[in-house]
Amino acid sequence: MEHTTNDKQTVKSCHVCQGARFYYLFSISDHRVVRCDDCGLLFLNPQPSDDKLAEIHRGDDSHDRENEPLHRTVSEIKRDAAKFYLAEIHRYHGRLNGRLLEVGCGNGDFLILAEAAGWQVTGVEASKTACQQARQRLKNGTIRCGELHETRLPSEQFDICVISDLIDHVRSPLVFLKEIRRVLRPGGVLFIATPSSDSWSARLIRHDWTEFKLEHLTYFDRANLQTVLFAAGFRDIIVQPGWKLLNFDYIRQHVRRFPKYVVTPLFRRIVASNMMFFCRKVALPLSPTLSVIVPAFNEVKTFAALMEALLRKEVPNLQMEIIVVESNSTDGTREAALKYQAHARVKLILEDQPRGKGRAVRTGLQAATGDFVLIQDADLEYDLEDYDALLEPLVTGRAAFVLGSRHGGRNVWKMRQFTGQHGLSLFVNFGHWFFTTLINTLFFQRLRDPFTMFKVFRRDCLYALEFECNRFDFDFELLIKLIGKGYRPVELPVNYRSRSFKEGKKVRIFRDPITWLRALVKLRLAKIDPMKVVGKMNEAGPGRPGLKTSTVDSNKS
Ligand SMILES: [Zn+2]
Repeated sequence: MEHTTNDKQTVKSCHVCQGARFYYLFSISDHRVVRCDDCGLLFLNPQPSDDKLAEIHRGDDSHDRENEPLHRTVSEIKRDAAKFYLAEIHRYHGRLNGRLLEVGCGNGDFLILAEAAGWQVTGVEASKTACQQARQRLKNGTIRCGELHETRLPSEQFDICVISDLIDHVRSPLVFLKEIRRVLRPGGVLFIATPSSDSWSARLIRHDWTEFKLEHLTYFDRANLQTVLFAAGFRDIIVQPGWKLLNFDYIRQHVRRFPKYVVTPLFRRIVASNMMFFCRKVALPLSPTLSVIVPAFNEVKTFAALMEALLRKEVPNLQMEIIVVESNSTDGTREAALKYQAHARVKLILEDQPRGKGRAVRTGLQAATGDFVLIQDADLEYDLEDYDALLEPLVTGRAAFVLGSRHGGRNVWKMRQFTGQHGLSLFVNFGHWFFTTLINTLFFQRLRDPFTMFKVFRRDCLYALEFECNRFDFDFELLIKLIGKGYRPVELPVNYRSRSFKEGKKVRIFRDPITWLRALVKLRLAKIDPMKVVGKMNEAGPGRPGLKTSTVDSNKS
């Protein structure tokens, strides 16, 4: 068979964000690995032809069978992985029975276990030999031979879909995931296991990473696979590191080279670079909505002007809901807020007493129903004209989480300058520099303005996160927990006019920094474990688990 360059398939737009500017990184046997300039996705471009890919897969199969120790190790690993996946799926889904589909089921290792655990199983597999083996090994399960789109499965049939080490082989991940969504029941769960290009093994060995090879067409990291899942109509997305799992291809190469090599637990841990995704099919709104959260406490001078500006504000292609959380002000803000109670686009939440800004924002987040969330203070320090620029990366899928930076780019003179209070300005700016450096060092970031109020993110980012900070330390908590969940914040410069303390700035200059330090240390030590939270939600009761924000009062103000 002859392969000319014409056989290769060129990718015209990024699988994640549809961007078209690609950076060349390096080549794998005359195929280029490129990075999308907009969202950072790595992929092969051009992709090998269908014939070339089929040839590679045949080669792999015959090698494995000739080499007995390799064959044995590989089946062992597969069985271990299957057991682990099944247990994790149970934790996320909360139920042990129903209809389960595995796409790319091979000779049925996972399906056999799933069948034994009580699932009614269906497998889809492209290799005819593997299909035959799987059919022989299963008791009642069904195997469909071919690619997913060729098998024409009926819509809304399955409670669970499992895709293990497959999404990186798929030509168009978004099209593939939409097809999966079609065959899942409403509320159905999708599980994906795939190598992570931001695992530390990948970052350490860079382009020698064993996953860089011709049959792997796309190299996802935690952030951009979440974005594709979001775009395909999945929500309640969480990622778990696949620590217990082996990097399958690495073992394969290793055992080929050292046939008597024993796979020790330590070795397993070191070469594990997989990640696991869990998400649900949910009903999607006809048009996406932005939830603007406005915490308001003693802001009577600016509140009405802000509300009028917000109600006039239009963001192209987005509906807007405004959630005002009024914390029982004493200066007339409550009366001003009550005027908007009946407004169709406004949800008014009245707190019986002020419990801190962080607490008010958390209350607002729980009431939000939009696809995207923006937090807007009731003062006018920030400019509503910036909304469009901040939301653009979310809407196009270039980012999940955007920070409006007051100190970015050409805006250096936008640092705090309170007229006639030079000493205070200096102190506040030093504090800003100190805490920024501290956050960047502790959490491996390169942020310029982590304290900005302008945080815009997909609401789904909050799924299975618990919050407990009530004051300004909530800003850190939100930022750090989102980073911990695998999202990379993107900073964009915004217009900003600083208020002085006389004008009503509510940061308490000596007490709050101490709360922040305490919060940062606590957050650095805390383990963010969304799966644990999902487990708790499943135990709490039936029904689709919603956004979870804890109501623990850790530091009453
Ligand atoms: Zn992209």
